[in-house]
Amino acid sequence: MSGKADPRPAGEGTTSRTRLDRGRGALGPALELVHTGRAPTRAVLTAELGVTRATAGAVAAELEALGLIRVDARPGAAAGSQGRPSHRLSVAEDGPVALAAQVHADGFRAALVGLGGRIVATAHGREVVDPDPAKVLGSVVAAGAELLRETGRRCVGAGLAVPSAVAEPEGLALNPLHLAWPAGAPVREIFAEQVRAAGLDGPAFAANDVNLAALAEHRHGAGRGSRDLLCVATGHRGVGGALVLDGRLHTGSSGLALEVGHLAVNPDGRPCHCGSRGCLDVEADPLALLTAAGRDPGPEMSLLRQADDLIRGQYDDPRVRTATEQLIDRLGLGLAGLVNILNPDRIILGGLHRTLLEADPDRLRAVVADRSLWGRSGGVPILACTLDHNSLVGAAELAWQPVLDDPLGALA
Ligand SMILES: [Zn+2]
Repeated sequence: MSGKADPRPAGEGTTSRTRLDRGRGALGPALELVHTGRAPTRAVLTAELGVTRATAGAVAAELEALGLIRVDARPGAAAGSQGRPSHRLSVAEDGPVALAAQVHADGFRAALVGLGGRIVATAHGREVVDPDPAKVLGSVVAAGAELLRETGRRCVGAGLAVPSAVAEPEGLALNPLHLAWPAGAPVREIFAEQVRAAGLDGPAFAANDVNLAALAEHRHGAGRGSRDLLCVATGHRGVGGALVLDGRLHTGSSGLALEVGHLAVNPDGRPCHCGSRGCLDVEADPLALLTAAGRDPGPEMSLLRQADDLIRGQYDDPRVRTATEQLIDRLGLGLAGLVNILNPDRIILGGLHRTLLEADPDRLRAVVADRSLWGRSGGVPILACTLDHNSLVGAAELAWQPVLDDPLGALA
């Protein structure tokens, strides 16, 4: 009876608290929608979140107050549109950034990356990568810290991309085959120490470079909207793969899935550093192209750049053409095997593989179709990666993730 006597205050309290909780719970999903370009207006945000206009408005205002997005209440000419034009939403141009770092066979690159995968500034160093991971990670973090000083941006955290499988949960670089680093180097811990030593805020993360490229392309590039996205790419050396399922990287039980570089595509091929022979890693990477075309790789620029330039600039040379076709056929054979096993709804290619696709898309698609069970029936779209520095953008995604999960908690 007493429970029925005055239900209103309790009822009202619950309702307003629920609205507040729902608003806070919607901040992360709302930020992710703006971050990935899927909510260009407040009306779309309202519909995507499935909340009331008032809640969506409050959520957008809160994200703007946190300095993460911009709400433009004065939309430009909405010619032809019906009804009242909605407020436009975009990521804040001058908002916080993540420090992204990438180490590859020819040196390193540091970048500041804002929401929306926007690269604000980058710096790179070309050097023989020191056998001590702490030295090169110290250099790349110092370059990033310098960019932060120059731009005066707030840093939400740091992410590192490495050309190696990274074992979880410890963050060990298991096979940095093209760097002189010791196998099993605790790269995440070393990177985190360098970030702390530089006096930077926020957590530090590390992952495989092709995994990060795939994550970035899924959120901002050629992988948008795909549910089972397969990414295969060359770095400066070697070949890597990644799978993004329902928006999440599939990393296997301990971070080591999709080691596609060691699929054998040429039984009589050259010996691979993994102990096998004819792996994609040594049959379809930049060095393999240069060798097949009879070119001596020079030291003046990265192998990837030299191989790209050769295909783009000298495709009329019969030797270059034959070498390119040989690599396309071997890549196609590897992709066909992956299509049979993984049944992706889209394949995206990066690094030199993107250049191979662009050189002769029909040939590559035909090899994949001819050599795969499912390729023949439906055909899997094969597209080029579209982002510049996708591994760096992906490294930044790691650092942005806590903010995307809980903007208020991460930035408070
Ligand atoms: Zn191998």
